Amino acid sequence: MDSKVYMEETEQYVLHTYNRFPVVLEKGEGVYLTDVDGKEYLDFGAGIAVFALGYGNQAYNDALKAQIDRIIHTSNLYYNVPLKEAAEKLAKVSGMDKVFFTNSGTEAIEGAIKAARKYAYLKDGRTDHEIIAMNHSFHGRSIGALSVTGNPHYQEAFRPLMGGVKFADFNDLENVKEQVTDRTCAVILETVQGEGGIYPATPEFLQGVKALCEERDILLILDEIQCGMGRTGSYFAWQQYGVEPDIMTCAKALGCGVPVGAFVLNEKVANASLVPGDHGTTYGGNPFACAAVSKVFDLFEELHVVDHVREVAPYLEQRLDELVAKYDFLSLRRGMGLMQGLVVTGRPVGELVAKALEHGLIVLSAGADVLRLVPPLVITKGDVDEMIRRLELAFQA
Ligand SMILES: *Cc1c(COP(=O)(O)O)cnc(C)c1O
Repeated sequence: MDSKVYMEETEQYVLHTYNRFPVVLEKGEGVYLTDVDGKEYLDFGAGIAVFALGYGNQAYNDALKAQIDRIIHTSNLYYNVPLKEAAEKLAKVSGMDKVFFTNSGTEAIEGAIKAARKYAYLKDGRTDHEIIAMNHSFHGRSIGALSVTGNPHYQEAFRPLMGGVKFADFNDLENVKEQVTDRTCAVILETVQGEGGIYPATPEFLQGVKALCEERDILLILDEIQCGMGRTGSYFAWQQYGVEPDIMTCAKALGCGVPVGAFVLNEKVANASLVPGDHGTTYGGNPFACAAVSKVFDLFEELHVVDHVREVAPYLEQRLDELVAKYDFLSLRRGMGLMQGLVVTGRPVGELVAKALEHGLIVLSAGADVLRLVPPLVITKGDVDEMIRRLELAFQA
């Protein structure tokens, strides 16, 4: 296949909403991808923090194949076996109460917003509740999720958005407090901001927001779509802060490539929010997607993925810190576990990402000036060394 022709024909039929890199990816093995021309890429993007287990995990693939032969879809009018297994495992690792499966992260956010509004409605009967979201956040592209996404550039052309949203500065507790009114029903934030530029919440901030929420019976929604599923060195990043959300959203690595998300409620919210008739989805929680989620949790346990992240992440941090010390255009490293960002000043980050690709390395950008690394969680120290080698070639180009 001629990749140039293939790209042209894709552009002919696929709506142009992405400026894609000139690469046609075809297959993956471990932490490497191969394009249609046979060129190999070390993947430190993982399909945007999705492919936690790496490519071609045989046990994962076999579980999906077996589920295809059993049944792919049933609908939510009936029970199915993988649904129970996936929900039980997600509830257990999070210590939370009830799960609703969706098809994407965006839809998980929509569900979280609806659950929060319903909880508040049942309490006081009002229909003018407000949500406090963060500047530089990212929660998705549907109108509800976009409305709590603190990026005017993404929002502008699509107004009017959902009402009742106020924005505060991430990691600025006083600023959050200033936005609170007697109508505030929820605070939504990413435990580690991803698209905005890899900003971990400070412990004082997250603990302060939690205390504020408890005091005012405001629900805390933590978006763990990117930072969850082991990436930061615990199943969910909030588990390292001693702060439990009332509602959590998951997606990305939850299905390791099968499109699936979830919003998860604690007991308080599960018992006093959404009931039959309030929310639904045709595909969400279908046996195929849930078989993926269920197998992902099994493999995380078998392969000790979260322990592995805790072991390899300090090495990644050390090697990245060496780069920051060595190159003037890198001003600092930020991140948690295998979710790391290098702040690039003086060179356009997009150019570095493109150069890395030429040298067989997939990395991402985030925010205006951050080079983002969200590799598969199964990377070895050797993979880190190879990533650094290729990245330095890109820097020198
Ligand atoms: C990717 C992402 C979303 C949106 O998820 P989709 O599956 O793309 O709809 C929401 N929140 C965060 C933090 C994300 O990283």
